[in-house]
Amino acid sequence: MADLMQILTSNPIARQLGVPQPTNLRRGRELPSGPVVLATAGGASALAREAVELLGLTPQDALVDTPQTRVTQTDDDGRTREVPTPYPSTIGAVVLDATALTTIEDLEGVRGALRPALKALEPSGRVVVLGVEPETAGAPTAVAAQQALEGIVRSVGKELRKGATANLVRVDLLTDAPTTAADLASTMSFLLEGRSAYVSGQVLHVGHGAAAHAAEVSSRPFEGQVVVVTGAGRGIGASIAETFARDGALVVAVDVPAGGEGLAAVANRIGGQALQLDITAPDAGERIAAHVAQRFGEAARIHTVVHNAGITRDKLLVNTDEERWGSVLEVNLAAQTRINAVLLDPALPGGLDDGGSIVGVASTSGIAGNRGQANYAASKAGVIGLVRAMAADPALAARGITVNAVAPGFIETEMTGKMPMATREVARRINSLQQGGRPVDVAEAIGYLAAPASGAVSGQVLRVCGQSQIGA
Ligand code: NAD
Repeated sequence: MADLMQILTSNPIARQLGVPQPTNLRRGRELPSGPVVLATAGGASALAREAVELLGLTPQDALVDTPQTRVTQTDDDGRTREVPTPYPSTIGAVVLDATALTTIEDLEGVRGALRPALKALEPSGRVVVLGVEPETAGAPTAVAAQQALEGIVRSVGKELRKGATANLVRVDLLTDAPTTAADLASTMSFLLEGRSAYVSGQVLHVGHGAAAHAAEVSSRPFEGQVVVVTGAGRGIGASIAETFARDGALVVAVDVPAGGEGLAAVANRIGGQALQLDITAPDAGERIAAHVAQRFGEAARIHTVVHNAGITRDKLLVNTDEERWGSVLEVNLAAQTRINAVLLDPALPGGLDDGGSIVGVASTSGIAGNRGQANYAASKAGVIGLVRAMAADPALAARGITVNAVAPGFIETEMTGKMPMATREVARRINSLQQGGRPVDVAEAIGYLAAPASGAVSGQVLRVCGQSQIGA
């Protein structure tokens, strides 16, 4: 579905009139073209630098206008003075390490570091701020200062233009299992690359992963791994299947028999398997596992399950009936709980592997609610609850299994293409990037959460919504 605003605003007259132009976002595994600048506020820590260096980037240190970063300069007349080292005139990203920040005064260092960086940021540039989990920060003022970072990042996300984004990553430094640079690298890679094009104003937590997950960040992280994607016959699911195949996965694409044509086309295109299956069937989990064991051998196990299949049956709650209510909860929530229970059996051939991952697809409607969608919002909020509960299960953590979800906002698909035009145009604009997302944006976020290198990322609900004001 063409973006009407993009067509209208590409008109030269609209440009002359100053109508805002939605920016073409940098996508894919492309890093920023300008230098990645490292800055600190509240004191130095090696974590951000090490994580960036693990990506093969050479961060260009920027010494910003804070006391710890002033340098001595000698004038022509031989007098010396302390000055801040200037930023490069254009930068690709700024990574601000604020993990050591403990006081309200330290927040001035954040302003001082970000101000010149924001001025120099290239289109589709990145701001990544690193903090610690506030409740682990100690004294109330330290907790307040760390919490303040969220307000800064969410506001900066709304102030940035030309496709630039700002996100906050919270790590564990003051706990028994501190986050390492290897734990952080996959998140840093995702946030700096174009894969995170439609993710802004978000807060992610990166903990410490199981040893089995100490994997390298790679451009084909799923090489030879089995990945099951439900609802893969079209829309976002088709894009998820394509993205995993691009990244090396052996994809099992699942969809209802009625969606068979689209499903076969997707499976053919990516060299994957098509499995016609209604996920609400009582034996859906067993059939998925049997398919995997039959096609890939008795010893084969699933690395990732993506629960993407979903339906809407919108009606105001006062008008909704049992069928509309129940079918949405059944497809969007109940089916995946049954499938998970089966696939998590370690003895089942074709079940989920240790070190594997489960990714749910929630929605901003599940966070904010939506008129006419009490059933849908219930199912999507339920997915969020499920993810949090499963990620906190010590038995799953001991097996190195991560459980996360994405919460897409307005994504350009057949589903949203059927919305009334005026509603659709509004939905496209009320986010910081002033445009709808693409299915690939959701797919890339899922790929990041599921990747072997993201073993330290669990229990997260990552919004892929361009920082939509809905649910903000
Ligand atoms: P879509 O309707 O285009 O595709 C959904 C797919 O799921 C279809 O191929 C359908 O046949 C399949 N499916 C439905 N019921 C099934 C069942 N019982 N068994 C197996 N497959 C089944 O939808 P989409 O826009 O691509 O959305 C994909 C997911 O993203 C859904 O969970 C949706 O709720 C969520 N989502 C979408 C948006 C958006 O803007 N499009 C926003 C937030 C969340």
